[in-house]
Amino acid sequence: MAESEIKALLDLDRELVWHPYGAMPGALDPLLVTGASGVRLEVSLPDGTQTELIDGMSSWWAAIHGYRHPALDAAVRNQLGQMAHVMFGGLTHRPAIELAVRLVELTPEPLRHVFLADSGSVSVEVAIKMCLQYWQSIGHPGKRRLMTWRGGYHGDTFHPMSVCDPEGGMHNLWRGVLPEQIFAEAPPDGYDTEPSPEYVTHLSDLMQRHAHELAAVIVEPIVQGAGGMRFHAPGYLRALRALCDEHDVLLIFDEIATGFGRTGTLFAAEHAGIAPDVMCVGKALTGGYLTMAAALCTTRVAEGISRGEVPVLAHGPTFMGNPLAASVALASIELLLDAAARGGVPWQADVARIEAALRDGLAPARDVPGVRDVRVLGGVGVVQLEQAVDVAAATSAAVRRGVWIRPFRDLIYTMPPYITADDDLSTLCGALVDAAAASQA
Ligand SMILES: *Cc1c(COP(=O)(O)O)cnc(C)c1O
Repeated sequence: MAESEIKALLDLDRELVWHPYGAMPGALDPLLVTGASGVRLEVSLPDGTQTELIDGMSSWWAAIHGYRHPALDAAVRNQLGQMAHVMFGGLTHRPAIELAVRLVELTPEPLRHVFLADSGSVSVEVAIKMCLQYWQSIGHPGKRRLMTWRGGYHGDTFHPMSVCDPEGGMHNLWRGVLPEQIFAEAPPDGYDTEPSPEYVTHLSDLMQRHAHELAAVIVEPIVQGAGGMRFHAPGYLRALRALCDEHDVLLIFDEIATGFGRTGTLFAAEHAGIAPDVMCVGKALTGGYLTMAAALCTTRVAEGISRGEVPVLAHGPTFMGNPLAASVALASIELLLDAAARGGVPWQADVARIEAALRDGLAPARDVPGVRDVRVLGGVGVVQLEQAVDVAAATSAAVRRGVWIRPFRDLIYTMPPYITADDDLSTLCGALVDAAAASQA
């Protein structure tokens, strides 16, 4: 693309187009992407040069199989030959039914009913609506608040925002607008740690005090993602499950970031060997192709709702169950689970390989001045700085190494596609280390 054409597009972008968490007009120039395949983004740099960047973000943790995968491309193309979309009210179709069957098979046992939503945030809205309506329907209308722990992220629409970390989640801006929820302290750091009895007592005290008004506890299991990229011990999830049972409160797991293998188990709930009452999946659900998420619930929750004065779940997005998205989701799940289709390598082996490469490759970041912590779990690698990242400096340092990353707050991190080859992983890790150094230069 000619330099003048790139400039014209970027000028229009800055003037007219909102980007995630963006200013208007835009402050930082985005990179112009012209294509993507495998783990590489094809980018037109502002000076007109064309370059390729290894994608360390999997397009926000979604593109687990990389770009333009033949099996996923074919799934979309085949479905396009049937229909792109039909309304889901009064109509149904094979892709949505088969996807629901697959999700029920793969998620923890008592989850049995599937609501297909069009984004992660909407699936969290639906999960919360399920829980509030459950208590309303069975005659406990006072149970309508939510409890969570600090450091979480559950989406950008209003109810999910109310359970995001109060500091990172801009709660001050929305005081009086967001429902006020119950916040426990953030879970203590570290996957491989013994649960702290003091922290469990803290959870237990809060539950005891608020059980009468609590509809549900909602957390991200094992990895808190956009709220701070922190890992916690499975024991806290078991503690929450026991407390919810004891106090008659529902448990929601938001597995939008952790689902489909990212933490080393298919779903993060498996680390703790427990099941929530409601679970959200999204992001990697469609392999990063199209927007779709799901909220799954148990028969207890579904039956409770059906006994109410309003015996329906009153939610029905226009693009609910979109056949293109459902087809590619099915294909992405098959590809994940079928080792033969993945060149004979089971997904667990790929995630373990990535984990080992991230541990090795990011270790040198510990010696970079201003680095506070380096941590890795499954396909998640994090370099945390003492101070906020200089995003422009860190991003350019990575781009010079041929890598795309998107740091936020004090965090430089990667969640690479599972197909990322060893030499690309090593380039990726080198770029994160460079980015950490450049950010404090
Ligand atoms: C990304 C994310 C969401 C929101 O999903 P969107 O599709 O961006 O609306 C919710 N919860 C978690 C844990 C996420 O990582």
